[in-house]
Amino acid sequence: MTEMPNDNCNETLIGLEIHAQLTSLKTKLFCGCSSNYRGHNPNTIVCPVCFGLPGALPVLNKKAVEFAVMSAIALDCKVSERMFFFRKNYYYPDMPKNFQISQYDYAGGVPLAVGGNLFIEAGRRRKKVRISRVHLEEDPGRLVHLGSIDKSPYTLVDYNRSGIALLELVTDPELKSPKEARILLQKLRSILEHLGVFDGGLEGAMRCDANISLVGGTRVEIKNISSFKEVERALSFEIMRQKDLLQKELAVKRETRHWDETRRITLTLRTKEEEHDYRYFPEPDLVPILITKDFIEKIKEKMPELPEARIRRFTVTYNIPNYDAKVLVSDKALADFFERSVKLYNNPKKVSNWMMSDLLRCLYENNLEIQESKMTPENLVEMIRLIDGEVISGKIGKRILPEIVSTGQRPLQIIEEKDLVKIASREALEKIVDRVFKANLKAVNDALLDEKAVHFLVGQLMKATKGKADPQLANKIIMEKLEFLKAEKSP
Ligand SMILES: [Zn+2]
Repeated sequence: MTEMPNDNCNETLIGLEIHAQLTSLKTKLFCGCSSNYRGHNPNTIVCPVCFGLPGALPVLNKKAVEFAVMSAIALDCKVSERMFFFRKNYYYPDMPKNFQISQYDYAGGVPLAVGGNLFIEAGRRRKKVRISRVHLEEDPGRLVHLGSIDKSPYTLVDYNRSGIALLELVTDPELKSPKEARILLQKLRSILEHLGVFDGGLEGAMRCDANISLVGGTRVEIKNISSFKEVERALSFEIMRQKDLLQKELAVKRETRHWDETRRITLTLRTKEEEHDYRYFPEPDLVPILITKDFIEKIKEKMPELPEARIRRFTVTYNIPNYDAKVLVSDKALADFFERSVKLYNNPKKVSNWMMSDLLRCLYENNLEIQESKMTPENLVEMIRLIDGEVISGKIGKRILPEIVSTGQRPLQIIEEKDLVKIASREALEKIVDRVFKANLKAVNDALLDEKAVHFLVGQLMKATKGKADPQLANKIIMEKLEFLKAEKSP
């Protein structure tokens, strides 16, 4: 893993332009094509509107407006009463009609919503980050390169994605580190998932552009950061690049750079285009949209529980620490997993402990999200019950957990197949202790004089039983035998 610069880059200012697909919609933003485009053959989920063929007319998806308004409310934004769409003109192969239907906040345009907030944890502080606007636009098609963008011998284009509803959110440049940027995206993801409008587990569902400037430098935009896992890396690289230039007293050019995920560097894409280059003008094929107070009120009435409220509920209802609740709720799937487990096994603290330590570590090490792993609440609970029932030791629990995560096998099946049932019979353990003592005569002598050396013998016993010995009983037998030897030796 690359080294991240430390958090206190006071001289850095980062603003994000986030694009989140409204993945819960059934259809695209302006046509009836399915919005479930992933995993299909290229250019098969398309129609004349997606392609922008002459005569094709867009029709706005009302549900998309509802989802966008819901998101705007959750972010404390002011929803506009009247809005319309604009054409953002540019020529690029991902956009065959040569313009993107988007929104604009000049020339009489208003975005769907303005002036919101998002709170993030920055160190021990709660920090408010302002959302300057939220709007709706269509996703362009997807360009596919062989390897990195600048070396690829060709570009392929897949229009299945074109016309997918995107929620664009722009933050003020108030973030001070790559880490804060990642935390903000994670928080936003959790909010949108709790609203039920978005699934961040889908590849490319949340992408972002970032503008970043260092004191003494100029604003640089980084495009195409394809996941929020990448954002920290991309920004860290860019900070280092700019710092290096500034140290050498070289100018940081105002430009747009591309994040190359494979090589983990940013590359010049183009010098920064100006807004007027896009020749924005109102989209004549769509009528203005009136968002009535009644429409907003109805949405407010059916707002689901949002992350902050859920964190509070977790600490009150389940009596788990605030920190645990925050970690669990930072990922909706994780929080759902927790609640389903607690329904099966009413010891929230124990479930949360297993999730917070071993399960999360295992997911992190394998770069998996909980929903991508094969762990189920049923299996986690079965494993905890086997430990409670003293069928296996906690140590064996820790050992089989990664296996459950990767194979989805039932814990009981794993321990039976691998013969991991706890050795809790005194008779059996005594025999093994005898063997261990015989093989480690020096350590036994040491242990007679110094209690610390006992740990070594316990360790050897655990090794001999592959961690299956009942730890308390094993300890007891070892101590008894040592006492017996001591008594024998003393005159
Ligand atoms: Zn279509």
